[in-house]
Amino acid sequence: MDNCIFCKIAAKQIPSASVYEDEELLAFKDINPAAPVHLLIIPKVHIDTLSSIQPEHTALLGKMLALAPKLAQEQGCAPVQQADGSLSGGYKTLINTGPDGGQEVYHLHMHVIGGPKPWRGQR
Ligand code: 5GP
Ligand code: ZN
Repeated sequence: MDNCIFCKIAAKQIPSASVYEDEELLAFKDINPAAPVHLLIIPKVHIDTLSSIQPEHTALLGKMLALAPKLAQEQGCAPVQQADGSLSGGYKTLINTGPDGGQEVYHLHMHVIGGPKPWRGQR
């Protein structure tokens, strides 16, 4: 898609701090991080929003979701069990969809947001 910033990032026409790439997906650091770890996972193919997906995108979406825990582990923000059995760490995955969903970039992307708190908007 012409004029789509994430298509340009996927095509390496605009640089990004990438942390993962394969034939179908790219993951890179958000330029304005809301937390110590803030990644964006995108499909290389242009899809406007989650609400634009077609049945043939189901496997791609599964791949995006399955990548999140791997990247969180690599970035050091996966949940960890403490000696007393409690959990620490963790992250959230988020897909903003449409204006009321807070979507600003209209190329499907999944946020992976985590790391030690406080984060923006979080206690
Ligand atoms: P949305 O609100 O659409 O879910 O989130 C878009 C995200 O993309 C924002 O968190 C914003 O900081 C990030 N972003 C926008 N432009 C760029 C860019 O050129 N490079 C990178 N790395 N992140 C961007
Ligand atoms: Zn695009």
